[in-house]
Amino acid sequence: MSRTSDIIIVGGGVAGLSAAAALAPHARVILLEAEEQTGFHSSGRSATMFHYALGNRAVRALTKASRDTFDNPPAAFEAAPAHSVPILVHARGDELEALDRTEADMAPFTSLERLDEQAMAQMCPILKLGDGGAVRGLADLTALRIDQHALMQGYVRQLRASGGLIVTGQRAAAIAQERGTWTVTTAAKDTYSAPLLVNAAGAWADEVAQLAGVAPVGIRPLRRTIITFDAPAGVDPARLPFVKTVGDELYFSGESGRLFASPMDEGESAPCDSQPDEVDIATAAWRMEQRTSVAVRDIRAKWSGLRSFAPDGVPVLGFAPDGDGFMWCAGQGGSGLQTSPAAAAVVAALITGGEWPIADLVPEELGPGRFLRQAV
Ligand SMILES: Cc1cc2nc3c(=O)[nH]c(=O)nc-3n(C[C@H](O)[C@H](O)[C@H](O)COP(=O)(O)OP(=O)(O)OC[C@H]3O[C@@H](n4cnc5c(N)ncnc54)[C@H](O)[C@@H]3O)c2cc1C
Repeated sequence: MSRTSDIIIVGGGVAGLSAAAALAPHARVILLEAEEQTGFHSSGRSATMFHYALGNRAVRALTKASRDTFDNPPAAFEAAPAHSVPILVHARGDELEALDRTEADMAPFTSLERLDEQAMAQMCPILKLGDGGAVRGLADLTALRIDQHALMQGYVRQLRASGGLIVTGQRAAAIAQERGTWTVTTAAKDTYSAPLLVNAAGAWADEVAQLAGVAPVGIRPLRRTIITFDAPAGVDPARLPFVKTVGDELYFSGESGRLFASPMDEGESAPCDSQPDEVDIATAAWRMEQRTSVAVRDIRAKWSGLRSFAPDGVPVLGFAPDGDGFMWCAGQGGSGLQTSPAAAAVVAALITGGEWPIADLVPEELGPGRFLRQAV
């Protein structure tokens, strides 16, 4: 089978779906996803938070520019893509300088409250406080918990409302460009042709670039693990904030009537169907017991996913200097859900020639050309 369109998007995670939704009103869009379902890899395995405690200035600026979509979702969204869940970042006595740095990084983007031990105890009764425990905290009461399903389905509905097409079970296996047209041949030997190709292949983004003869940018997939377990008697998981150590050691919150925790691991990984490592599972449980009053008995569920970073930790959004009509939409790291509205808006603006959507960033900060410039 052969199909033509104006734009082919490779990858049906949140990056590809959001870009497809933003582009579909302007062009004929076909999205190819290797798996039988969209969101199978990183996008379906995240902690689903919207907050400013992770990342760098560019990530925070993309997050801020995405906020309105979560507060006022487009009409095509059937369900609200997020609800309020505050974040509490806490520090031991020996971590106060790090907390000051985090406050300075977050403050330009959101409003923060400083918390003493008493205020932290009210917000999170299971947190260990005082000597050896948390002595100071920062709260952002405007943080959100994302409903990943509602967000992704919202993008799918937007895309379909404009006539866009999603084809699952179609792995791009070969990509060639001839006379200005990209042709993707899938593992099933079907072909899809278009003048523009968007690389939203997550952990596989460098591989897809190489298939197309475009230089890889150095995307690094890093594994991150989550476990779930029962909450202690008397603790309502739904009332807990998202609680994070100021260093990248542990976060936890409520999850469907239980608790979830991550040791914030960053194990190097090849692009794959990521599976949790026993050491990371044990580390999550151990750190939970160190930092809280909770005894982690039965681990009810465990999973891992890949967070894929460019060398500078900034998403890669822009046309490849070495591939005519090849658009990067990759390197979303640990913030791909919360930044997806703004990342998609950037991709759409660059493709359609629309107004640049991010006040705090210029295109060169996000584009893949920054790696070529560094190499010179
Ligand atoms: C444990 C964990 C916690 C996280 N917490 C948060 C959080 O709280 N907030 C937040 O915003 N983000 C969070 N993230 C990050 C977020 O999940 C990612 O940034 C985001 O999902 C990346 O989306 P993506 O579409 O780029 O990648 P993916 O969802 O992996 O999608 C890429 C898709 O491309 C497809 N593909 C690859 N190669 C091909 C090919 N050749 N042909 C066709 N299709 C192909 C793959 O099958 C895959 O479905 C977390 C991630 C993890 C793992």
